[in-house]
Amino acid sequence: MTALATIAGVAVSPLHFIAGERVASDRGFEDVSPIDESVLAEIARGGEAEANAAIEAARDAFPGWAALGPAGRAEHLFRIADLIEAREETLAQVETLDNGSLLEASRLRLMKRAALNFRFFAQLALDLEGREWGANGTHYRVRRDPAGIAVLIAPWNAPLMLESWKCGPALAAGNTAVLKPSEWSPLTASLLADIADEAELPPGVLNVVQGIGEEAGAALVAHPGVDRISFTGSVETAQLIGAAAARHLTPVSFELGGKSPFLVFADADLDRAVETATYQYDNAGQVCLAGTRLLVEDAIADEFTERFLAGVADRKLGDPRDPDTDIGPLITREHLARVEGYVERALADGAELVIGGRISPELGGLYYEPTLFTGVRQELEIVQREVFGPVLTLQTFASEDEGVELANGTEYGLAATVFTGDEDRIERLGAELVAGTTWFNCFYARDLGAPFGGARKSGIGREGGEWSFDFYADVKTVARKVD
Ligand code: NAD
Repeated sequence: MTALATIAGVAVSPLHFIAGERVASDRGFEDVSPIDESVLAEIARGGEAEANAAIEAARDAFPGWAALGPAGRAEHLFRIADLIEAREETLAQVETLDNGSLLEASRLRLMKRAALNFRFFAQLALDLEGREWGANGTHYRVRRDPAGIAVLIAPWNAPLMLESWKCGPALAAGNTAVLKPSEWSPLTASLLADIADEAELPPGVLNVVQGIGEEAGAALVAHPGVDRISFTGSVETAQLIGAAAARHLTPVSFELGGKSPFLVFADADLDRAVETATYQYDNAGQVCLAGTRLLVEDAIADEFTERFLAGVADRKLGDPRDPDTDIGPLITREHLARVEGYVERALADGAELVIGGRISPELGGLYYEPTLFTGVRQELEIVQREVFGPVLTLQTFASEDEGVELANGTEYGLAATVFTGDEDRIERLGAELVAGTTWFNCFYARDLGAPFGGARKSGIGREGGEWSFDFYADVKTVARKVD
């Protein structure tokens, strides 16, 4: 394992970051670029020893960081935000090589959001006012005090954006943290550690442990000295983490998978609906919020389908660094095999393949064509399970009630998208759809002040705005007798 790897011309440490120091492991794992499957670096493969060391470092740093208060902490967190912004180009280049997301999206959206995640929550911690009231001769005040050590576990599909969405509020609330990035996209978390160091974050406040989920991740979540676990990833992993956390009753926040409906009613602005539907293939469908189940009202089903297929044909599959590319590769061969398995089983179940269903013959590698199935029944696996690839289904409905029934007919409840011109329907469906977030006539609008999370198996808890502090802080009632 080298001390530094050069990725997209940027020096990146493949080591852990514990107590402000770079720490090696005996073993490593290969980090592979989805763009061409080349090996980018050998990364330190942490386990129990590294998890224990990082949690101890976070424990040592906790009293000092908590005592700084929101203003003292904000100085550091604002500096981190500034440094992310100053380096957004190199961060974007590294992240695109690492996880295959479009370079332009990394630059224009993801890195800016990563900076904002630190700035927004540091500012919110400053502005947050504890509620107070009197009742029955007693004065009540709500305090939000630092909770302790937060373990933060992130997936690979938007690494730095999701890691900062956890680190920002966890640190702003006064906790110290151990971040475990995905083994499929470990690089920008390491650059974040460099940035934290430059922002003079006290050693141990933010630690990064690299490694495989079942090793480093499992050791972190099983540790008895952890006060909060925030996890974004799959339902299956959440079940394991939930079981480990239950042993010590460690509070968890889970942001998990989805199989979100995308409803289009006959009264919708069809141009906007069709265009937005084609975006559901963005990031090769590796987006938790993607509306992967197109549900279209009978009256417009033929026209919608025709226009949707024409729109998808215009979307270019290719190298995510090319500005003309709309859709990049899948993350790994292992993930490709998972996507292929879903497609094969859908065909065996009798679903009709309209487009795609294969690796691009021209591009090969991990470039999977946008895929659409019709002729699907609600109980089929392809309708019920998250594929996390560029695979959509299309079903039709005859009435609003049927549309809602289909939309709500899975075990997930992360998001829903609806295109309609009917204001009353917006009111009704806002209540009826089972989803943490419902978008009407738009998609992916996510203000940091809004609560975010999933219903049913799509998650436990809400983060965003004050909801983040309800989780990351210790919320206390202080009741005082008044005469
Ligand atoms: P994953 O569950 O396989 O892994 C997520 C993280 O958990 C990784 O860092 C991994 O190393 C770690 N991990 C794996 N096993 C572990 C264990 N036993 N103990 C502790 N940690 C462990 O998910 P993924 O494939 O990286 O990401 C894709 C999933 O994430 C999809 O289901 C997607 O919908 C979901 N996701 C959800 C959101 C959201 O906000 N709701 C956002 C992005 C992705």
